Amino acid sequence: MAEGQVIVGLEVHCQLDTKSKLFCGCSTDYRADGPNTHVCPVCLGLPGTMPVLNKRAIEYAMRVAKALNCTVLQESEFSRKNYFYPDLDKAYQITQYDKPLAEGGYLEIEGDEGGEKRIRITRVHVEEDPGRLVHMGNAERGRYSLVDYNRAGIPLIEIVSEPDMRSPREARKFLNKLRATLEYLSVFDSEKEGSLRVDANISILGSERVEVKNITSYKGVEKALTFEITRQKSQLRRGQKVERETRHFLEARGVTQSSRSKEQEHDYRYFPEPDLRPLHVQSWVEGIVLPELPDARRERFIAQYGCSLNHARTLTGDLRLANFYEQVVRPDPAGLATLADTWISDTLIGELNYRDMSIDAVDPATFTGLIGLIREGVITDTSGIEVLRVMLDQHLNNQPCEKPLAIVDRLNLRKVSVTIPLGLGYEIDAKSGVEPSLTSQSNPILTAITEALTANPGAVEDFRKGKKGAFNFLVGQVMKKTRGCADPAEVNRLLAEELKKEA
Ligand SMILES: [Zn+2]
Repeated sequence: MAEGQVIVGLEVHCQLDTKSKLFCGCSTDYRADGPNTHVCPVCLGLPGTMPVLNKRAIEYAMRVAKALNCTVLQESEFSRKNYFYPDLDKAYQITQYDKPLAEGGYLEIEGDEGGEKRIRITRVHVEEDPGRLVHMGNAERGRYSLVDYNRAGIPLIEIVSEPDMRSPREARKFLNKLRATLEYLSVFDSEKEGSLRVDANISILGSERVEVKNITSYKGVEKALTFEITRQKSQLRRGQKVERETRHFLEARGVTQSSRSKEQEHDYRYFPEPDLRPLHVQSWVEGIVLPELPDARRERFIAQYGCSLNHARTLTGDLRLANFYEQVVRPDPAGLATLADTWISDTLIGELNYRDMSIDAVDPATFTGLIGLIREGVITDTSGIEVLRVMLDQHLNNQPCEKPLAIVDRLNLRKVSVTIPLGLGYEIDAKSGVEPSLTSQSNPILTAITEALTANPGAVEDFRKGKKGAFNFLVGQVMKKTRGCADPAEVNRLLAEELKKEA
């Protein structure tokens, strides 16, 4: 590894999507209810109560372990991790320590250097979630905090990776792949608030390691790591040492902050949980059959529908998106597969992201209807985008949703003349015939920018209002028009210039 190399390892805590808690019968469906309404003597840790292990939680955890290519151990064991904190009613957490459920697996991601890269998994273990503190005011200066034990005892799995990631981008890819895998296994719901929390270990080769605790969003991980790399590198540049320490990520400010706690592993005084017997699952784990996972589905999409590798990766990287694609093409797989692939990957996802909408907002049958109109030559691609935007905006604004054909007729978008698609920046010389020649005065990027600005007046307006996403959206449109051949930096520069001119 080269000097200055960034080294990242992650510890990911995911809530398992069971109906009841890990050691009692309390319902896990607590988010819409008042505080401390999903509690009982067991999850409140009252004296004399005994934990009873949730079989479904262990089955879910074993599915995860198998999907991550781990070895499920012959015998695993629960331990008590002792510490005092107001959200921990028992003053200990039941977790797994030196005998975890599973060890030694891997997950494949698309690495920074291209191609598949294996991120090794050190271990997967099961533990209970603590409660939740609600700070009145902010955590440092608020006058008091409230405790809600609804979350206490929710089953978690902790997935610990080896320090195999080399950039914030690889860490994001790892988390996305992990999330997709857990959702394919039907053990996790990423839409639920607080269902995922990450601790990140990060160091610059040759320096001490810093742990950033309790990052609670996918975007947060990339932000926190980027901040830490900048901080550590500037420390080293100034000839200072990077301290080995624990830091907290302040999501709203996008910075990490040193935390005063200096707990060491031995401070937790781990010992085997006396109220639970060791876990023997060997015959059980052999009987667990896994569903189709993201990698297998990606390969199937390529083989069955002829998707490109990149599109197949995008489509299968999210369970909802993959299901959506298959529902869209179901009426006529041979005729719709390619059209649906490009429309979803290149257009729909961008339009959804721009509006901060989820794929669940789009009805697959209606979408099949829309691309059917393009396929039959009723409307052009450009009109198709216009219709799609009307559909999404109607949904977003809670307006009654029109059928695609109704929108086409209302906006008078039916194709009337045949247009000959010309290559970007090329013109056919009418006299000499078919030989294309590059027109000297037109810069293809500028042509694409002009087209993109004309076709997206809404985004231009949003840009003027200061929406940063609108600029990126326009860059994407230009890149698409140039079929990805243009230099993104050049597109950025020219687009900014054009927007200035137009203002
Ligand atoms: Zn309970």
